[in-house]
Amino acid sequence: MRVAVFSTKSYDKTYLDSANAGQHQLVYLEPRLDSTTAFAAEGAQAVCVFVNDVLDAEVIAILAKQRVQLITLRCAGFNHVDLEAAKLHGITVARVPEYSPHSVAEHAVALMLTLNRKIHRASARVREANFSLDGLLGFDMHGKTVGVIGTGKIGQCVAKIMSGFGCRVLAFDPYPNQKCIEAGATYVALQTLLSNSDIVSLHCPLTPETHHLIDEKAIKQMRAGVMLINISRGAVIDTRAIIRGLKSGVIGSLGLDVYEEEEYLFFRDLSSTVIHDDVFARLLTFPNVVITGHQAFFTNEALTEIAGTTIANISAYELSGSVVHPVSVERLV
Ligand code: NAD
Repeated sequence: MRVAVFSTKSYDKTYLDSANAGQHQLVYLEPRLDSTTAFAAEGAQAVCVFVNDVLDAEVIAILAKQRVQLITLRCAGFNHVDLEAAKLHGITVARVPEYSPHSVAEHAVALMLTLNRKIHRASARVREANFSLDGLLGFDMHGKTVGVIGTGKIGQCVAKIMSGFGCRVLAFDPYPNQKCIEAGATYVALQTLLSNSDIVSLHCPLTPETHHLIDEKAIKQMRAGVMLINISRGAVIDTRAIIRGLKSGVIGSLGLDVYEEEEYLFFRDLSSTVIHDDVFARLLTFPNVVITGHQAFFTNEALTEIAGTTIANISAYELSGSVVHPVSVERLV
């Protein structure tokens, strides 16, 4: 099957080529998929896309015109795909529902520890031969309360790791699960979690219900000095409200791996250009904010799994007309 692979980075090519082993004709394209680049899928039966590719009704209509039959996502989240439009045009959508929840959960914990012990500042100081400890004071994680919002595959891993640190773990999810309770978490209402947690970590998908879940009102319910970690999707938090929270001190520290407008920034080297996003630029000025550019998934194990599952989805579609992990308006697997 001929597959147009959008938003290709060198590591995508390495892992996909290895999993593919010559089965499919993978056409690697650096641009992100949107209405101006969709023409590049001409002649392909499938497109393979990542988190910031645009798959709205307009793009899907262009793909359908080019006889694309399959959209295969190299990620778990599918908030950027217009599933109604895909259904309308008879295009199958596949994803990688689970690759390594550990990779993402461990990155959330890396952000927590970095912020708590000010590793980002300490490392920069030591490089300048400044060995002063002023301003680097942290706290014991042991005994603190961590609130996990969204206790699916990744949230469960975070709950387990934080229990191992000796933290009290509070959880909120409309669908509580036993595994998370076994991991040491106690399910509570969202408001209880917000008002009792020293650290709040977000692991829910972006949906209409979770859009700006952490807004002005939620921030008011939080403990003064709370640490907030968002590793799920940028728009789960209202970034402008968070900036106000940082300025007032209610938010004591912020760790982000995702950002509302990240499609204009992440996954490329902009170090020689001017950042035009003033909200993002403001975030970069805070000493108590650490941002990574959507790299939580970026481990050898996760990339191996993503490539393997993507090729399995493509092969299954070629053989049987259905994929291993479909995502549709009717059925989410
Ligand atoms: P999952 O589907 O296993 O779990 C999501 C959980 O969120 C479910 O238990 C669901 O019930 C819960 N949820 C749904 N609506 C909620 C709400 N309103 N409030 C609280 N919880 C709610 O997904 P997962 O594999 O754990 O991934 C979670 C999210 O993490 C993904 O949707 C994706 O956006 C994000 N993610 C980020 C990266 C990264 O590299 N930063 C990588 C993978 C996933």
